[in-house]
Amino acid sequence: MDFALSPELLALRDRARAVAADGVAAFGRHNDSWINGYSKEFARVMADEGWIGMGWPTEYGGQARPAIERLIVAEEMISAGAPVAAMWFADRQMGPSLIAYGTEQQRTAFLPGMLSGDDTWCIGMSEPDAGSDLASIATRAVRDGDHFVIDGQKIWTSFGHLADYCYLICRTNDSGLPHRGVSEIIVPMDLPGIEVRPITDMIANRHFCEIYFTGVRVPADHLVGVEGDAFRQTMVQLAHERGGIDRLVSNRALFVEACSRADRADPRVRQQIAALEAEFRVGRLLVYREALGQAPDGFSAATKAFCTEHQQRVAWFAAAQLGPAAMLESPWTTGVLYAPSYTIAGGTSEVMRNILGDRVLGLPREPR
Ligand SMILES: Cc1cc2nc3c(=O)[nH]c(=O)nc-3n(C[C@H](O)[C@H](O)[C@H](O)COP(=O)(O)OP(=O)(O)OC[C@H]3O[C@@H](n4cnc5c(N)ncnc54)[C@H](O)[C@@H]3O)c2cc1C
Repeated sequence: MDFALSPELLALRDRARAVAADGVAAFGRHNDSWINGYSKEFARVMADEGWIGMGWPTEYGGQARPAIERLIVAEEMISAGAPVAAMWFADRQMGPSLIAYGTEQQRTAFLPGMLSGDDTWCIGMSEPDAGSDLASIATRAVRDGDHFVIDGQKIWTSFGHLADYCYLICRTNDSGLPHRGVSEIIVPMDLPGIEVRPITDMIANRHFCEIYFTGVRVPADHLVGVEGDAFRQTMVQLAHERGGIDRLVSNRALFVEACSRADRADPRVRQQIAALEAEFRVGRLLVYREALGQAPDGFSAATKAFCTEHQQRVAWFAAAQLGPAAMLESPWTTGVLYAPSYTIAGGTSEVMRNILGDRVLGLPREPR
């Protein structure tokens, strides 16, 4: 396979690199900038460049550009640490979900605000007693005439306090198997009965939130796809989001900086740098294979585990180069302390290996 980029793709990469550098200069550099770098202003810059909905069909306002183009832009943005968080979930996940499963009315109502960079979406999936085991969710939506009435609690919802809409995964029926009866509903975040409580994480970020829903009335036509059959839809979204470049390059800038401070004359340090760079390049091939649709079904779980574990090793390497100064408050410290989250967000490494065992390797399931 020839991975050389055409002159057009190189020009796109250079443009993206320049815009990313401007974004970092204006809004700071963020580790995992698709979660920690929140700026609506920069989301509008992305929209003006035509970098939201790049691959969406033209009839829905997208540009039907090949997946490789979105990958190039995303790689430049997140490697540099540019603040793409305000548009990221909408571009990566919610837009494609509405295009795949939504109604025409939903596409007309919600896609333009995503494409302009004006609307931020959060994902209301995890609950205090349902993380890896998503089928255990208890947040309930009960039909009442032409509305759903929602009660329950979500947790770890990134940007819950800033989002315009929540893409809510909830239970509409609890007779039958747990993964039956799950539905996806679009919830405007300004509805009465919604209380958002931000959570401060250990690096003083405040993207995590708890969201409490008490008797929240949502129009029934905000249901996405088939009522009670959304578990399958959610799994497809998760499989898609796991294999992306955001899982590999989120602390690339930290690696570059750590290498520049490292004692590169030390043979042990040289070994570490070479090993990390080799991993990075393998991870990049895995991600490109996902984007080009060439990976086996379910393999994004392996791509995610491989790439996010690499990002953690990068953080430990950076900490070792910094030495005791890693204890002091600096962008390095936050980059190091943030690292455990890489193998949790979007599904833990253990769960990724379960998926790989079940779906790709066909191993027998462990008895429950
Ligand atoms: C940075 C970040 C951003 C996030 N953003 C969002 C968001 O926007 N919206 C949202 O809904 N959620 C979000 N999450 C939550 C995330 O999806 C969950 O943390 C994740 O799915 C794990 O669930 P849990 O925390 O409940 O852990 P648990 O599921 O309780 O797992 C605890 C431990 O048990 C292990 N374990 C669990 N089940 C198995 C099994 N079957 N086999 C082997 N080991 C197992 C896990 O690997 C883990 O080590 C975010 C998390 C992070 C870190």
